[in-house]
Amino acid sequence: MREIKELAAEDIEYFNRQKELAYQGRAGTVRKNYCIYYTENKNKAFDKIYRQLTGRIKKNDEKITCDKGCPTCCVYYIEASVNECELIVYYLYNNIDRYFLFLEQYPEWRRRTGQYGDPLSDCERTVAEMRKEDRFSNDDLYNLDRKLLDYQLLDVVCPFNHDGICIIHEVRPYACANHLVTTPADWCSPFHPSRPKIYRADKTEEMDDLELYGYKLEKPVISSMPLTVYEIMRGGLPYITELTGISILDR
Ligand code: SF4
Ligand code: SF4
Repeated sequence: MREIKELAAEDIEYFNRQKELAYQGRAGTVRKNYCIYYTENKNKAFDKIYRQLTGRIKKNDEKITCDKGCPTCCVYYIEASVNECELIVYYLYNNIDRYFLFLEQYPEWRRRTGQYGDPLSDCERTVAEMRKEDRFSNDDLYNLDRKLLDYQLLDVVCPFNHDGICIIHEVRPYACANHLVTTPADWCSPFHPSRPKIYRADKTEEMDDLELYGYKLEKPVISSMPLTVYEIMRGGLPYITELTGISILDR
């Protein structure tokens, strides 16, 4: 077993117990089946996104500069739906080395993103407020951009990045997959004077995330991806119920 640097032995024991319980019983089966279904769904979406992005880039006669081990963009504030986070948890539980890597890297990431007034929580709050309203003024957008930049300037690499490689590449959030660049990688740094040329694909039907475990959500439930993954691993289904209002525990 990997050595865990930051979490105490009893914490690891607790997380391991949560992992053992995750797919047990009727509710656990629903949860597992949902993740299997969502994996297929996400793979389809990834294919469509990649085809759209490469088609557009080819049409403009440009070349993708994104490459493995190029982590400048992994310091962005990354959001994902609860559906995506639930899939990442499933992936980690089935890829035990990555599960331990995440548990090892998360505490330091959270400590560092909490510095200088906790820009991570600030981004979370701001985005949640804006989503409640569903209508954003130019001032709101300007305010959000500044908060996202504050977060980016912390220069803290995502806890899923290890030695420059994304350890959840197969199930990474749409926010990461739907983002290709054709300008030099160093332009992606906020410290560089030039801005990157970013390509994003249109939303596909698979990306709706309005359905969870067979229930319909009013709106997609979106939040900071690493934080939500960690909280799902810590709190299990009761945490997902708290987040979404959906309970499958009584099934
Ligand atoms: S977005 Fe920029 S930093 Fe990220 S992989 Fe692409 S080129 Fe590299
Ligand atoms: S999920 Fe992967 S690609 Fe996305 S920010 Fe984290 S390490 Fe980078």
